[in-house]
Amino acid sequence: MNTKKEVTIIGGGLVGSLLSIYLLKRGYKTAVYERRPDIRKEQSIAGRSINLTLSDRGIKALGETGILDDIKSIAMPMYGRLMHNTDNSIAYQPYGKEGQCLYAVPRTGFNQKLINLAEQMGAKFYFNENCTNIDWDKNNISFVNTKTNDPSVVNSTLTFGSDGAYSTSRHAHNLQQNHFQYEKDYIDYAYKELTIPAGPAGEFLMRSNALHIWPRGNYLMIAMPNINGSFTCTLFLPFEGELSFNSLDSKEKVNSFFENNFSDAWPLMPSLTEEFFVNPTASLVTIKCFPWVRGDKFTLIGDAAHAIVPFYGQGMNCGFEDCMVLNNLMDKYQDDNWQDLLKEFQHLRKPDADAIADLALNNFAELRDKVADHKFLLWKKIEASFSDKYPDKWIPAYSQVTFCPHIRYSEALQNGLKQEIIMQEIMDTPGIEHYWDSDIIEKMILKKLNGKVVKYSH
Ligand code: FAD
Repeated sequence: MNTKKEVTIIGGGLVGSLLSIYLLKRGYKTAVYERRPDIRKEQSIAGRSINLTLSDRGIKALGETGILDDIKSIAMPMYGRLMHNTDNSIAYQPYGKEGQCLYAVPRTGFNQKLINLAEQMGAKFYFNENCTNIDWDKNNISFVNTKTNDPSVVNSTLTFGSDGAYSTSRHAHNLQQNHFQYEKDYIDYAYKELTIPAGPAGEFLMRSNALHIWPRGNYLMIAMPNINGSFTCTLFLPFEGELSFNSLDSKEKVNSFFENNFSDAWPLMPSLTEEFFVNPTASLVTIKCFPWVRGDKFTLIGDAAHAIVPFYGQGMNCGFEDCMVLNNLMDKYQDDNWQDLLKEFQHLRKPDADAIADLALNNFAELRDKVADHKFLLWKKIEASFSDKYPDKWIPAYSQVTFCPHIRYSEALQNGLKQEIIMQEIMDTPGIEHYWDSDIIEKMILKKLNGKVVKYSH
């Protein structure tokens, strides 16, 4: 029996909009309150992660809701990483197995599509409505309209806080309990988005079906393709220091930095200096908190519950997986007993959200430094070759996270740590570079694996 038919969602971003679709499909009425204007009518704001990678967890959720093809129509598949080295050589590493890919999806187009689809199914969206407070005793949510300044109050017995990393609903939730755990960690790096436009005939000026990476040790640039032939580049650099966003304070310095360090990309970036000084320099934060849930009436979801740094390309995918897990729990509890349902939701999701937060931080060093290292590339080759032979015994950690939605993030983290210990021992074998694909190495890995529990399903 469904005891709660009407649902309020605070925040109509990617997760709030998809959650609305999930709920509509189960027969709920959803009202989504979004602080921004309607993005279908406004120009997109430059500089805020223009495109995102969608991988198998997100794909599974979109498939479940029947909207995957709609989203694929605006997405670019990327089948591997293309590393741009300092000597101008390039090296291609396929992702996972043959045919496995990530998709680069434009954030605004994606969100617009999700809102359209939700509306077509009956969702009500209220734009320019800024949630300012929640009165938990009365179940009243306060909003102020950002255009008219008019206040309003919405009464809601079931509310989802999907209002992102700087969530107001989380703040309102946390204010009235003294045991709320909250960690907010900024890293010393910031990011800035820049563009490589399409060529004169709308063509891609670099390989289109790949994620481009310029690993430079202390900093990093990546580029992802857009369906219009352009690439969105993201530069990750320290905020402060000798080489930092702070020190690149003139057009000359920016040009010379790019010419020296990204010499193949630099000629393809005609608006580099304009964009560099106009686009925001944005910070990167991890947020962990608990509890997410308040009785049978409220839960945080998506970035509001667990914001992570973007180095595994999983923040949105993780938020979509939240929706999928919640949907499974609604099946289990037959849309009733929301108190237990929400409690189980947070107990299932919290360890996975913490795990992907840690994995994402660890992956930063790998992306900016190790992917250019010969030993690391050999490590990856050994793993891939062993995994090809023994897919039931070894799935590389990156593939577990990206291509294996049946493996929980928390399991992938644990499995990855065990694999790392084995691989470190293998890499210490004298002369490994000469006989890395030999039977001896294969047997050594099998022996080391023996007795170690690597769990690939749940
Ligand atoms: P948001 O997208 O932040 O949406 C929250 C919504 O709530 C917004 O629309 C906001 O306007 C609204 N809102 C906020 N406050 C209020 C309020 N008081 N009242 C009403 N509405 C409010 N993830 C991936 O999976 N793949 C990637 O490749 C990837 N790349 C990234 C790159 C960068 C540089 C960054 C910063 C993030 C990246 N992410 C990526 C993470 C991804 O952007 C987030 O995980 C995702 O946007 C979370 O969705 P959300 O709906 O929870 O939050």
